[in-house]
Amino acid sequence: MKFTDMGLSPELLQGIARLKFEHPTPVQTAVIPAILNHKRDLVALAQTGTGKTAAFGLPILQMLSRDIKTPQALILCPTRELCMQIARDLEHFAAALRGVRILAVYGGADIRPQLTAMARGVDIVVATPGRMHDMLRRRRADFSRIQRVVLDEADEMLNMGFEEDLKAILSEVPDTAQTLLFSATMPKQVAAITRKYMKNPEEITVGTRNAGADNVRHEYAVVHARDRYPALKRLADCYPDMYGIVFCRTRQETQDIADRLGRDGYNAESLHGDLTQQQRDRVMKKFRAREITMLVATDVAARGLDVDDLTHIINYSLPDELGSYTHRSGRTGRAGKNGVSIALINMREHYKVKHIEKTLGRTFVQRSVPTGVEICEAQLLALMKRLGEVSPEPGLIDDILPLLCKNLEGVSREDLLRRFASLELHRMLDYYGKEPDLNVEPLSQPGKRTGRSRGTGDGDMIELVVNLGKRNGLSPKKLMNLINASDRTSSVDIGRINISQMQTYFNVPSASAQGVIDSFAKKPCEFDGRSVSVARAGTGDPAKREQKRAARRKGGPGKRGAGHAKSAR
Ligand code: AMP
Repeated sequence: MKFTDMGLSPELLQGIARLKFEHPTPVQTAVIPAILNHKRDLVALAQTGTGKTAAFGLPILQMLSRDIKTPQALILCPTRELCMQIARDLEHFAAALRGVRILAVYGGADIRPQLTAMARGVDIVVATPGRMHDMLRRRRADFSRIQRVVLDEADEMLNMGFEEDLKAILSEVPDTAQTLLFSATMPKQVAAITRKYMKNPEEITVGTRNAGADNVRHEYAVVHARDRYPALKRLADCYPDMYGIVFCRTRQETQDIADRLGRDGYNAESLHGDLTQQQRDRVMKKFRAREITMLVATDVAARGLDVDDLTHIINYSLPDELGSYTHRSGRTGRAGKNGVSIALINMREHYKVKHIEKTLGRTFVQRSVPTGVEICEAQLLALMKRLGEVSPEPGLIDDILPLLCKNLEGVSREDLLRRFASLELHRMLDYYGKEPDLNVEPLSQPGKRTGRSRGTGDGDMIELVVNLGKRNGLSPKKLMNLINASDRTSSVDIGRINISQMQTYFNVPSASAQGVIDSFAKKPCEFDGRSVSVARAGTGDPAKREQKRAARRKGGPGKRGAGHAKSAR
């Protein structure tokens, strides 16, 4: 299908032509006619970078009525950056339309100009939920004539805790409005929103459900935890044209890695929530201008960052949320380009890769961390490429060229290249050649859990205890059901489960442990008439605890074991 076959107005076609969009993307082919031709609600599963903005933006612009003064369309999205980007895109699409008023409403900026603009009259509001809710609470926005609502990156909005704001905003919108929801993934929370706020929505899936973009290759390399940073440097050295984002899990880690990279001479800076908005704007501007080629970022901070040509995504640490991995890897391979998403994992993290593989339906390829020799070769090739591309400026070189030629008289072109390469290679090998191989094999076999029974956690799995046991009729399946039913946004991998009479010990990835504990504290529940409580298993010497547990299992001595036996009678 072509843009001209979709029933779009000549003005919008002009806007598209100016942007040099030639063919509609799959999401546009599916969504534009669906919105233009009927008023049914719509759920579209689509990644970032697939052309969603035009998919909903063009029909919304087309269907604006001229005689309404208050907003007719509301687009909600998770971040300030995405909000500004969508508003900018809509302005571009509407470049040949007269008098369309688009307002971006986002937090982290003075609200007064936004209030003034709203009062002057707006056709389309693009907003982040927190600020929009604030404006509605002040009664400074009239949504009584909204005809279309877009929830863009719905999974991200919910991940970021905007559920209450969304509900409050949606309750101000007329029931007759058409709701269009876009999400890269469909976790339970998003499905709940579709059930509650949408009427018999049409579901469109572009690509596979929950899958990452097709042109992204997913790779992982296994290293000792202590070698993560040297491995990162080697990847950066092996791909001298790398233009990518290094994702870390915490702000502290993000800052630390960016500082180290900076000290080691890489064009890297950090992007995380501890920076002021001004600092973040400055970093993003530099990244877009490629003054920075490695952006070290947290998931939240990188949301909405709109850069099309990223070559690499490096998962310095894998995220806890599967949705975050999709968003991370979806930052590359955009607009038809190819990209690579590489995860650096330690020996015990293989289960995380397996989990993502299973849920996304994608295959990860195990790759090696480049060796010193491989890096030297890659750098040499890059140097040769530069040599082929450089156009020497006249001047100094011309003056000394005769002298240079005289010195190398009689040396053939091939020999010259060989000598040059050898000189460079030796220089690089001096630096890199003796560096050790960082590759190790994962401990776990594919498909097997890596649950370990060390109660205080070994950096990967942590043992938790729940106050229910055989006496309460708890089984592994029931435990899993309990955990799944608790108030969580993501699934949890459960490792080894050890059920005793009165309580049950189970392993979860350390990154999920606190979330599991909190979810039971937040939403109390009962099982077999008991109020369920989950805590970390006791600290102390793990080996001794294991001994005690073994003793308990055998019904042998040990304070807690004796206690159980007694109360079990
Ligand atoms: P989006 O998913 O809306 O953020 O779009 C991702 C990128 O693809 C943006 O840079 C758009 O300008 C670009 N884009 C969107 N639709 C098309 C199209 N039909 N042809 C070429 N580029 C497009």
